[in-house]
Amino acid sequence: MAIERTFSIIKPDATARQLTGAINAMIEKAGLRIVAQKRVRMTREQAETFYAVHRQRPFFAELVETMTSGPVVVQALEGENAIAAYRDLMGATDPAKAAPGTIRKVHAKSISENSVHGSDAAETAVKEIAQFFSGNEIVG
Ligand code: GDP
Repeated sequence: MAIERTFSIIKPDATARQLTGAINAMIEKAGLRIVAQKRVRMTREQAETFYAVHRQRPFFAELVETMTSGPVVVQALEGENAIAAYRDLMGATDPAKAAPGTIRKVHAKSISENSVHGSDAAETAVKEIAQFFSGNEIVG
C-alpha cells in the first residue's frame, strides 16, 4: 500500500454549520493525517480555476456560486491510499446515494451543498494541493 496525499475542501455549507471539527474527527478516525490546513474564502477566479474541468456543465455557475458563498477549509491529507480512502469516506456526490456513515450521508444537505471535496486521482491531487499550499505549509 502506498502512502499518498490527497486534497480536501470542507465546503461553505459545512463551515456555516460549524462542522469543521466533526468532519476532521471523521477524517482522523479513518486514519488520514491532516498534514496541512487553512481556512480561506475562495475567490471567483480560484473557484473557476479549481473546477475548470466542469466549465461546460449546466451546474458550473451554481458550483462557483456555492464554493464562494462562505469560508472553506482547504486541507492536504496523508495516509495509505489516501485518494481512494478519502473518496470512500466522503461517499457519493449526491448525499441521497451516499453509503451510511460517510461524511456526505451524515452531513451533506444536497448534491450542490455536499460538504466536502476530495481529489479523484493522483495527478489532480498534486495539482489541487499546489493551488492552495506551498511546500513549507505541508508538515507530515
Ligand atoms: P465529486 O468528485 O463527488 O465532488 O463530484 P464531481 O467532481 O462530479 O462534481 C464536483 C461538484 O459539483 C460536486 O461535489 C457537487 O458539489 C457539484 N455537482 C456535481 N454534479 C452536480 C449536479 O448534477 N447538480 C449540481 N447542482 N451540482 C453538482
